[in-house]
Amino acid sequence: MAETTIEKAKAALSDAQRVIILSHERPDGDAVGSLLALSLSLERAGKNVAPVLLEGVPSRFRFLPGADKVTSDIPSDGDLLIFVDTADIQRTGFPVETLPRQPDINIDHHPTNTDFAMINIVNHKASATTEILYDVIPQLDLEIDIDVATNLMTGLLTDTIGFRTDSVTPRTLGIASELVSLGAPMAEIYSRTLNQRSFVSAQYWGKGLNRLERENGILWTSLTIEDRKVVGYSGSDDADLVNLLATIEGNQVVLIFIEQIGGKVKVSWRSRPGVDVAEIAFSFGGGGHEQAAGATIEGNMQEIKERVLTATRRSISPSPEEYA
Ligand code: AMP
Ligand code: MN
Ligand code: MN
Repeated sequence: MAETTIEKAKAALSDAQRVIILSHERPDGDAVGSLLALSLSLERAGKNVAPVLLEGVPSRFRFLPGADKVTSDIPSDGDLLIFVDTADIQRTGFPVETLPRQPDINIDHHPTNTDFAMINIVNHKASATTEILYDVIPQLDLEIDIDVATNLMTGLLTDTIGFRTDSVTPRTLGIASELVSLGAPMAEIYSRTLNQRSFVSAQYWGKGLNRLERENGILWTSLTIEDRKVVGYSGSDDADLVNLLATIEGNQVVLIFIEQIGGKVKVSWRSRPGVDVAEIAFSFGGGGHEQAAGATIEGNMQEIKERVLTATRRSISPSPEEYA
């Protein structure tokens, strides 16, 4: 009988002592939650684990159990290299040639995942990577204790923006219920990761809200390096402004353009159910989900805005057949 993917992962783990785990740059709650849940469960099984994020753990997630163990340097060697919540090998932000070995295991839920590892545990239907890990951790004979449950819950809550996305299924809610039974403090995680904002974030949002534009069902704005400097915002992201824009009525797609150092712009798309933005993001070298996608594109703000808005308009306007 053919060895299943889980059996292969189990065999790879049993041969390994030093495990390196990576997730994507500008990590969200699912990236951090998946990284920490898997790290803690492996550590409790006696493995030597190095959880690595290019920019470390964002302050919003530093309360999570195990966050203090994350480093921003990859060990120069290890027995196993695992990626979580990472659609492709470039997404960690580390130059691929600096990775200590070929990817061994890839655990993810992005439809744009490129199956880049030896062992790929990818389920596009899962609402979060931590939803997959809830099944995979026990299948690997590892334990879900209260700390692991807290991290798994963080991925579920943040990737579904508090169970508000179409990706939420009865299974998602069933897992959330199990995690609460295991002691995960849902209300606290909700409040810390989704509700609380710093004063500086609100000022940064103000910069973007001042520049809102809307045309034919597309709403967009931009944030610049100068905006971050002026308000003193230390991240390089949008402080989640895109998810606030997504609550504004009457749009098919909302977009945010975030200027990055080194002549790049990070673009985030959010869309109404039925409008697929993952494909547009993919065409710009990014990826994501049907209703939430992103890409980092080289070039200046004005030029990228024009290119991206043109592609987005094209993708939401009805095709000629629909007029027939
Ligand atoms: P964001 O717009 O950064 O909040 O991301 C929305 C979704 O798209 C998340 O699932 C991200 O992991 C994914 N995503 C964002 N940027 C990229 C990228 N450059 N490549 C692949 N997936 C991305
Ligand atoms: Mn993510
Ligand atoms: Mn995710």
